[in-house]
Amino acid sequence: MKLFGKKDVPEDERGFIRVPEDKDDSLSAGEPPTKEEVIESTCYYVCSKVCYGVRTQAGICCTIGKRDYIIGPITDTERFLEDLSKKLGYEVDFRDVFIEYEEGSKMFPDKDTWQEKNNYPCMRVVPDEQRGFPCQLLSADMKCTVHSIKPEVCRDYLCDYLKDIVSTLDRCL
Ligand code: SF4
Ligand code: SF4
Repeated sequence: MKLFGKKDVPEDERGFIRVPEDKDDSLSAGEPPTKEEVIESTCYYVCSKVCYGVRTQAGICCTIGKRDYIIGPITDTERFLEDLSKKLGYEVDFRDVFIEYEEGSKMFPDKDTWQEKNNYPCMRVVPDEQRGFPCQLLSADMKCTVHSIKPEVCRDYLCDYLKDIVSTLDRCL
């Protein structure tokens, strides 16, 4: 068998065309994604397109809303401030990005999570009830503007909905 008459395409002994190995490493051509890559991109897709199972919803855990919920404690504040300062090209202050107990406990006196000292420092939220008190690093279209350097707690957080999806993928792949 010849491929459109091209004699330089190798054939195996049965006459089938052998497609030469694709060497384009930059595109990982021909390689299936790893299990970790599938899980990571699924999480990214769900969080930005079908957050908590609601189509077109995104980044709900980056807002407080009406829930008793706090985005903290942030465990890698120094690393994050350093990376954020580098990204922005100027020095960012601790208070610009984080909230400590003294301030936070007064912001949401009715929420138990905001009264618990161990949950601090937490991410600074914008005092905008209509937008659900979003983290100030969340864009208007609900995307994390510091995705590549986000704090550990943000990177590791899985809501119940996403936890189910990840454990299904982990079991099946
Ligand atoms: S972790 Fe859950 S709540 Fe947070 S953005 Fe992803 S799907 Fe939405
Ligand atoms: S830093 Fe990014 S992921 Fe973390 S709460 Fe803010 S917007 Fe969400």
